[in-house]
Parts: sequence; structure tokens; C-alpha cells
Amino acid sequence: MLPANLASRIEHQLPVKLVEIIHTAGRIANSQHQNLYLVGGAVRDLLLEKPNLDLDIVVEGNAIELARQLTEVEPSSIITYPQFNTAKITGNRWSLDLATARSESYPQPGALPTVTPSSIETDLFRRDFTINAMAICLNPDRYGELIDRYRGQDDLKDKLIRVLHDNSFVDDATRIWRGLRYEQRLGFQLEANTLKLLLRDIPMLDTISKERIRYELECIFSEEQPEKVLRRADELGVLTKLHPALTGNGWLAAKFMAARQLSIPNSPSFSLYLALLAYRLTPSQCEILTLSLGLAKSVAQTIRQSTTIKTRLEALTNPKLSPSDVYRQLHHYSATAIIANIIATDSPVAQQYMETFLHHLRYVKSILSGDDLIAMGVPQGPQIKQLLEQLHQAKLDGRVTTRQDEEKLVKKWLIS
Ligand code: ATP
Repeated sequence: MLPANLASRIEHQLPVKLVEIIHTAGRIANSQHQNLYLVGGAVRDLLLEKPNLDLDIVVEGNAIELARQLTEVEPSSIITYPQFNTAKITGNRWSLDLATARSESYPQPGALPTVTPSSIETDLFRRDFTINAMAICLNPDRYGELIDRYRGQDDLKDKLIRVLHDNSFVDDATRIWRGLRYEQRLGFQLEANTLKLLLRDIPMLDTISKERIRYELECIFSEEQPEKVLRRADELGVLTKLHPALTGNGWLAAKFMAARQLSIPNSPSFSLYLALLAYRLTPSQCEILTLSLGLAKSVAQTIRQSTTIKTRLEALTNPKLSPSDVYRQLHHYSATAIIANIIATDSPVAQQYMETFLHHLRYVKSILSGDDLIAMGVPQGPQIKQLLEQLHQAKLDGRVTTRQDEEKLVKKWLIS
């Protein structure tokens, strides 16, 4: 049973410093006769007793002004976004996003909404799901009071993801991806009508810009187990909207798990997850996916390289390759593209070669420079480059180790 007032829950779950800042913010807002609320995911996670140090705060007043006054009393780093009338205050592993309570209307489906200042009631109505549409008042006289107009608490208890109205996915189809993400992260289920609406509105994903879709994918890849979201998206016919040839089956789950193992102590990068998701596409399907997500050049390059390596893996299954052969096959490609192939390939031989390349061969350098060769009497011109390459090759294959070895080899070439 949840407490009627969440004040003690706040004190227990949030770090002391953050609680202090919230108190101060509440006092400042109160002195200006404005109401201040903790909203969205932080309230949801407070009720679920899950850690969440990225707080969203809404004021029925000027958010930037409040944020400025707050950092005068509680010095912290602040960034303001006057175009959105929001501010972000950050501290040690926590952040506070302050916004002015607003209502939103959608000029057309998928477009960014038109925003007008409003009350907390209308601000909550613009939100995606009931579990994200609760607020806790932070003014001193109402501190800890839960505002739950859409029965978010009941849905938390029943483990349901429910939209606030039937047009929700039409207004903003990114909520389709968000819904799947919360469902899988929390182990909840889409409520029956919400599921019906979601299936009906899958075509509305076409109204969303590539930047916003890419952002959703970034959020999915930041989840602990993105594969669960992708599997569910596949099952419901949402994944096909990224590319019709993508699948979110057990193969992907195993590969994502391996990616996490290999990335410890970090999480896999966006590029690595995406390279694995796109791994079984053909190069031309990959190009289409890359374009449809408007990927940054470096990410697009990694995805492209990952499929290129895949099409050339056959050459790396020959157990008789020399280190310089392996180097030649792989040195054009980024580490992430190679790691994706280490994870994805079924060939232990190719895997071993790629690991050797990543951990050792790519760092091997010969000692002599072009200037050294000239000083030894090699004439300037293309020959220098060729000789340096041969020296590098000899070093990779262990035919030379020291500077003297290299000089000996150069002299031999000069004589012959
Ligand atoms: P997470 O734990 O994934 O960070 P969050 O709930 O904090 O979850 P944010 O993306 O930070 O999610 O958004 C903060 C809040 O803003 C959400 O809880 C929700 O109330 C609202 N929100 C965000 N995106 C949308 C959207 N597309 N449509 C409606 N409301 C949204």
C-alpha cells in the first residue's frame, strides 16, 4: 500500500543534497505564489522504489527565472534554453530539468507541438502514459502530495502501460517506441485498448522525422536489455518500420548479450548495437537503413564497414594466414566494425584473427622512418613507401624485431 503523502519516500530515495535543493526550489516558488511539482519518470520511479536521479520539475511560472534563483542559493552548474523556456541544473550524478507547465497541441501528426504555458493539469494531460503523468507537489505546505488524475498509481500496481487518450499515438508516434521501452524495461504489459491503438497507429511512424526515430533507437540501446524491446517491436510489426528486413529474434539477443560482455566495464556503443541489429542486412539494405536514420558519418561508416567485413569473412576462415595477411584484410576498418564481426561470426578461426588484430597487430609499428631510409641511401620517391610497407610486414610476421634487424633488411634490399 502506498503512503498517502510521498514526503518520506522522497527523503529516503533521493540523495540528501538533491532533497535540499528540492526543498529550496519549493520555498522559492512558494514565495512567488507559484506551484512547483516533481513530474514524469521520477515520480513513477519513486513509487516503484527504483533509483532515478534525473528529475523533471515543472513550475506554474517562469522556469528559467526559478532555476537562476535556485542556483544563487544552491550553487550548481546551470544551462538555460530560452527557446523552450527550460533550464537544466546538474550536480554530482544527478540532474534537474526545470520547465514551465505547458499544454501542447499538434498542428499535424508527428510534427513538434505548439506549446503554451498552462497549469499542471494540462501539463500532465500532454504526457505519454498514465504512469508518466503523475506529479508530486513540492511547495512547503503541500510537500509530498501526489497528483494522479489518470490513475497512474493503479496502472503501476497492475503493471500496465496505458495512453491518456485514443489519439495519443497519432499526435506523436514516437510514443509507440516509448511504450515498448517502458513495457519491456519494467516488465509491464500494454493495456488492451492501448495495444489496439498502437497496432492501428503503426503507420503513423512514417510521420516522424529521422532524427526523432534515431533518438528513440538511442534510448532503446541505452536500456539494460535492448533486445527485449526489439523482439517485442518485431512481434508487433513495429520493427519493420525501421527496415522491413530487420528481425529481433533470439540470434539478436545472444549477440547483444555478447556485446555487453565484451564491452565491460562500459555499455556497448550505439554503433556496436546498431551494427549487430543491421548485421544480417545486405549492404544495400544497410544503406537504406543508414539513410532513413540520418546517421552521423562515423556511425554510418561503421555500419557499412561491418557488413563489408561480413561479405569478406570467408578469406579469414583460412587457418594458414600470416599476421601480415590478417593485417591487410582488416586495417581499413574501425574497431567497432571488427568487434561486431567477432560477435556475429560463427567461424572461430576468423574470430581469432580479428581478436589478434584488435589486441595486437593494429599496434605493431616498424622502427625506421622514411627519413631513416633516405639517410641510409634509399632514393626519394615511391620506393620509400614500398620499403616502409615491407618493413612493417616483416615486423608483423616477426622477421625483424630490433632497429638493427630493420637496418639489415634495408641494406639487403639496397644491395639487391
Ligand atoms: P526514462 O526513465 O526513460 O528517462 P522518463 O519518464 O524520465 O523516462 P523522459 O524521456 O526523460 O522520460 O521524459 C520525461 C517525461 O516527459 C516523461 O515521463 C513523460 O511524462 C514526458 N514525455 C517525454 N516524451 C514524451 C512524449 N513523446 N509524449 C508525451 N510525453 C512525453
